[in-house]
Amino acid sequence: MEFDLKLGAHTFKFMVVPHIPIEDCSDLLGLCLYHKHQIYVADGLPPSLTAETAIHEVLHSIRFMYSLDNTDDEEAIVQITGHALTQVFKDNPEWFDWITSLLRA
Ligand SMILES: [Zn+2]
Repeated sequence: MEFDLKLGAHTFKFMVVPHIPIEDCSDLLGLCLYHKHQIYVADGLPPSLTAETAIHEVLHSIRFMYSLDNTDDEEAIVQITGHALTQVFKDNPEWFDWITSLLRA
């Protein structure tokens, strides 16, 4: 599965792939290669974990894009925010559809 994903002024390739394309990545669920405009998510994850991983990697790209400080806390911040957003989307599908419809108007 592959999408063009617009993030800021850029178009990323968002790909769900059988293997994350770096060495020693057996425990990686996803990867953001900001300078290549590529985001990978491992195929075969449970649906909710696929969604959370996709959001997580987008949050990493936002951190790069807007030059937010790269701190030791980045992974924890992205992890918590990604998990929380995933839960909001999961628990409120009608609200999410409404937000999406507003943004398409
Ligand atoms: Zn991460």
